[in-house]
Amino acid sequence: MKQAFNFNAGPCVLPKEAVESTIAAIRDFDNTGIGLMEISHRTPGWERTMAETRQLWRELLNIPAEYEILFLGGGASTQFFTVPANLLKTKAAYLQTGVWAKKAAKEAKLFGKTEIVASSEDKTYTYIPKGYTIPTDADYFHITTNNTIYGTEIKYDMDCPIMLVADMSSDIMSRPVDVTKYGLIYGGAQKNVGPAGVTFVIVRKDILGNIGDRAYMNPLPTMVDYRTHAAEEDKNISMFNTPPVLPIFVMHETLTWVKNLGGVEAMNKINQKKSAMLYEEIDRNSMFRGTVECKEDRSIMNHCWVMAEGREDLQDAFMAFAKERGMVGIKGHRSVGGFRASLYNACPVEAVEALVQCMQDFEKAHK
Ligand SMILES: *Cc1c(COP(=O)(O)O)cnc(C)c1O
Repeated sequence: MKQAFNFNAGPCVLPKEAVESTIAAIRDFDNTGIGLMEISHRTPGWERTMAETRQLWRELLNIPAEYEILFLGGGASTQFFTVPANLLKTKAAYLQTGVWAKKAAKEAKLFGKTEIVASSEDKTYTYIPKGYTIPTDADYFHITTNNTIYGTEIKYDMDCPIMLVADMSSDIMSRPVDVTKYGLIYGGAQKNVGPAGVTFVIVRKDILGNIGDRAYMNPLPTMVDYRTHAAEEDKNISMFNTPPVLPIFVMHETLTWVKNLGGVEAMNKINQKKSAMLYEEIDRNSMFRGTVECKEDRSIMNHCWVMAEGREDLQDAFMAFAKERGMVGIKGHRSVGGFRASLYNACPVEAVEALVQCMQDFEKAHK
């Protein structure tokens, strides 16, 4: 097979072990003689897999019993309206740190008042706004912890005077999280915990069922109401309707891999190391310049850089040079330009070493 270092932003690299065990299960799931894609989701082996997957989430992120863990369809984008549908009584507050955050806020407007507390749109979202005041009359404050496109990240669990809601699509399981600081955490699986097709929602049960007499989407359609799915989890069968079986299985295998490596603390150490290696090279190399100037805002997942001043004409040359050496998915998002390397959990250290070497060799060739 061709040697490729996968730096795609999502869907992206998965642990080899997870891919291999999924291939085996697609042929024969749980010694049933039937493949994973062909079983009934009411099969005992599948109910056990669902329960184990939830248990892995609970263990890895220390999720208390007051929280339910839901596996839904529709991607994080569906949560952009499902969150306000379930939680917005009169007003919601949003921190606008990128286009995902902006898209989330747009959906909230359908349900009530929406306040953008702060935005970094003025500088193409290359920093995390600071020094803002969270309105205490809002039902919740929504943040995007990692801004996949721009390479900025809120790397701590903030103290929030109102309910905190977080889109953690692209940094979930990259580090320990104090779940108790959040009312709800959601994200698409396809960055750090599996393939596209399943969305995780971690929600504190007592915040549900409180939308008052809001005009829009009230009462809630059954599938939109988190309580529909939570009620099933209480019975530990977890399936109101057919779940995305294949993506959940890959998630199960991916989380098992994280657990075997030592959990999210160990994952975070490895991620810090990989990330520091690449940022050091971006800062050192005379050919390049990082786009996130405020170093404390730099993401440990997505690393964005452009050609240094006066070197812009070499952009295509570097892209070709890197491609030649097996680098895949390092083109920056069109709104930022330049390059982006996503070093998610499953991205091996060797891939980062290869990229750093490639950047050094390019500099030597063009100095
Ligand atoms: C990728 C991404 C999304 C969109 O996820 P979908 O599952 O494609 O809807 C939303 N938010 C963030 C932070 C992302 O990285």
